[in-house]
Amino acid sequence: MSLEKADAIVIRQVDFSESSRVLTFFSREFGKFAALAKGAKRIRGPFDAALDLLSECRVVFIRKSSGTLNLLTEARLTSRFQPQQGGTKDGLSRLYTGYYIAELLCSLTEDFDPFPELFDLAKSVLSLLSSAETHPSTLVVHFEISLLQHIGLLPNLFECSVCGCPVEQNGKFAHWVSQGGLLCHSCRREEYAGTSVSAGSIEILRRLTESSPDLAARIRLTKEQTEECHKLAVSAITNVIGRKPATLRYLQM
Ligand SMILES: [Zn+2]
Repeated sequence: MSLEKADAIVIRQVDFSESSRVLTFFSREFGKFAALAKGAKRIRGPFDAALDLLSECRVVFIRKSSGTLNLLTEARLTSRFQPQQGGTKDGLSRLYTGYYIAELLCSLTEDFDPFPELFDLAKSVLSLLSSAETHPSTLVVHFEISLLQHIGLLPNLFECSVCGCPVEQNGKFAHWVSQGGLLCHSCRREEYAGTSVSAGSIEILRRLTESSPDLAARIRLTKEQTEECHKLAVSAITNVIGRKPATLRYLQM
């Protein structure tokens, strides 16, 4: 049992009793962790508005030995996720994009596995979603691809997984989901059942993995490019977590 401090984003809330909630945080210092917040549902509770979904806050918690729920003792709001108040016309859709990002962090990371870069990435993406000048769909694809890259599950975007031929400008490739790779036209087999992806979209994905969220947010993709890139990322994510993310159907790409 120890007292810990962290900068954290609220990624999940579950009611525990009439007045308490169990919160899941994604923190800079510890990665993901859950904690019981006693009195969190009371209007003038001890945590105020610091614990809204996707709020970033400074928290203090008692870390229990494995198997027991950690206990939140303090939470101070750093910044709130308010995409509908940033002068955006599509605020609701941006809000759902935030929920999707929270679900991906919840499903694809492990408890107490620190990932400071991923925390910084999530923080920038949430802040960019509140700005009217950014394209939410590019931010979604960028986040999906970067998250897969951080956890080591991004498909190899440079060559065919079987013969090793490089991905060239005009080729048509297939995403080999179970092996986390690509297949060229001549190696593609019926039984792999991968979806097609154009070399142009693979090139975009490669560029996005090298871009900061700031830069990515200003890239406008065509509808076809967005669909192909998003589809590839969602197939890889679904393969890892064993189901489609629940918030996926609220996304407007
Ligand atoms: Zn090949």
